[in-house]
Order: sequence, then C-alpha cells, then structure tokens
Amino acid sequence: MLKKMQNFGAGPAQLPFEALQSAREEIYNFRGTGLSVMCISHRSKEYTELHAETLDLLRRLLNLPENYNILLLHGGASLQFAMVPMNLLNPGNSADYIITGRWSLKAFNEAQTVGNARIAATTEQDGKFLRIPKQEALNLDSKAAYCHITSNNTVYGTQWRQFPGAAGVPLVADMSSDILSRQFDIAPFGLIYAGAQKNLGPAGVTAVIIREDIVEKCRAGLPTLLRYRTHVENNSLYSTPPCFAVYMMNKTLTWLQSRGGIEWAQEQSVLKAGLVYGTIDSAPEFFISSVEEESRSLMNAVFRLPTEELEEAFIAVASENGFVGLAGHRSLGGIRISMYNAVSVDSVRELTSFMRDFATKNG
Ligand SMILES: *Cc1c(COP(=O)(O)O)cnc(C)c1O
Repeated sequence: MLKKMQNFGAGPAQLPFEALQSAREEIYNFRGTGLSVMCISHRSKEYTELHAETLDLLRRLLNLPENYNILLLHGGASLQFAMVPMNLLNPGNSADYIITGRWSLKAFNEAQTVGNARIAATTEQDGKFLRIPKQEALNLDSKAAYCHITSNNTVYGTQWRQFPGAAGVPLVADMSSDILSRQFDIAPFGLIYAGAQKNLGPAGVTAVIIREDIVEKCRAGLPTLLRYRTHVENNSLYSTPPCFAVYMMNKTLTWLQSRGGIEWAQEQSVLKAGLVYGTIDSAPEFFISSVEEESRSLMNAVFRLPTEELEEAFIAVASENGFVGLAGHRSLGGIRISMYNAVSVDSVRELTSFMRDFATKNG
C-alpha cells in the first residue's frame, strides 16, 4: 500500500502527484526512445525538444515578453547570489540590496565579495526579520546598477505584496519561493532567478529570467560558465544541462498549465493562506505569530506555540496523522507551513482542522 503523506515542507518541496506518476511510467522509456531521459544525449532530438518545450511552457505561464530570455542553469539560487553581481556590477558601480531575511542577507554578503554592494534598507530587529519595509523607508541610490530584493522570505514567512519602486533602477529578484504563485508586472525587473525546488520542480535546475538590455550590459572577462551571455547565446545548452531536473520541471509546468496556470495558482494560494492565517488568528495565544500582518507570506506561514515541548508534540502528532514538513527553519525553530502550488486546498483544510483540534486539546 502506498502511504501518502501530506507534505508542507519548505524545500525541496512537494511535487504534483501527477508529475511523479507520469515520470514513473516513463522512467525506462522516454518518448519512445527505449531509454531513460537520464541516459540520453542532451544533443538528441528528444531532449532538445523537451528543453525547448520547457522554456516555452515557462514563458507562457509567466506571460513573458519577447525581450526577456529564460535560462536553465545549475548551481541553485545560491550561485545566482554571486553570478548577479559578477555580471551586473561593474567596477566603479554600486548595487542596492534590501534586506528582509536570511536569503537576502546571503545575497548581499556574496555581492560584497564581488564588488560594491550597499544596504538600501533592512528590516532586521533584534536578529529577526518580521516585516517588509515601506517604500518611504527605502534609501535608494538612483545610480545603482540594480536593486536586489527577495520576493518571498521563506525562512521568516514574509512576502512583498507590492514590489518597491526603484525609480528606473532595474529590480533584481530572488523569487525562489513564490515564482508562479501570483501575477505581477515584469516591466521593472531586469533579472529574476529561482531555484526550482519550491514551485518549479526538483532541486538541480535554476531558472534565470534576464532582460535583453541587461544581457547587453553584462561584464566581459568572466569565466565562460559564469557569464549570462554564454547561456543566452547557447540556449542554456553550452554544457550538459541538468536533464532530469528539466524533465521534471516540464512535468510540473505541464501540470500547472492544465490546472489553469498562474491565475489558478494565485486563487489557490489566497484560499490556502486564508485558511492557515484564519486558524492562527482564531487562537492567537496558542498559535503565536510575530510577523506583521500586511507582510505575511502566502507561501510560508511561520509561528510558534507557547512552549518548545508543545512544538515538538505538535510536529510529532501531526506526523502520526500524516502531516509532515512542519518544523521551522533550523535557525529559528517553531512551526512553518509551506503552501506551494502542489499543496492542495484540501490538504491545507485537513491540516487546519488538525491544528484547531490540537489547540483545543492542549491550549
Ligand atoms: C531555498 C531558497 C534559496 C536557496 O536555494 P539553493 O537552491 O539552495 O541555493 C535561496 N533563496 C530563497 C528565497 C529560497 O527560498
């Protein structure tokens, strides 16, 4: 018997069941080749078609204009922390970073190893990040090469609801944990990157969306694989791509498209977050949320219970009931519920009913 758990893990996160099932059926025989997709040339007709199809799916789901390139790279979001400044930050220039959590801090620290990075705002208070800054609080440099933000703060559970205005300076965003969960205007963005393992597919492939004028301005003289231009010119096939991860991304995006794309995902995430925050707010002394209300993430809800013992019991009893992936980030503790696209409204409804029951019994 297949024991199916309901997975609320923050990443690598749940993939659509249909995507896993379809991959299982094709594992020995990819598109009639009689071979696994893991064992064929990335120059084969079958793989190059899959590759092009995946790029096209992502372009259509995001409704991307022609002047944006999509790259599929190795190295995770963490390599982008370095590649962005290496390519976009010329000597003599400076880049702005808005620090709203652990990942933006890492991106900033990495940029400092490359060039001149500057903090345009931080919401750190007593070592914690509980909100998104207001536009008035941003100290932006109008000459900056770019302004970097993290659209969703996976660890602290905050999210930019409205992206900041950077007055003509291109925005660069780490959207690893909320890409394809909502519609937004792409125009202010020069570059967007996202590790796949939250909303796009499995770990191992990273999507980079880069505007044409930004590619033109990229620095020369970098090692070949670290230049965006190399990947633009070679359609992300300069060296062997992460073929299997791209294949699973294709399955995940096909699933999302069949459900109704980004509009559907946005509707679902509003419903899911409504259920979770509604439950938290119904027992604020038991489910203790310190995140500012307007900054709450629709992807990751982070909260504490009155004691660490209760948190441990919550995670253990939840697991006995089939709900897993609920422990907070290792740096914070507490509870985190991640509600990416492949997590259904029904799953979330069952979890919130468990939460209410647990609060009644233990509150
Ligand atoms: C998970 C995550 C990362 C880290 O991604 P890697 O692929 O492990 O480098 C970076 N940024 C955000 C916002 C994330 O959620």
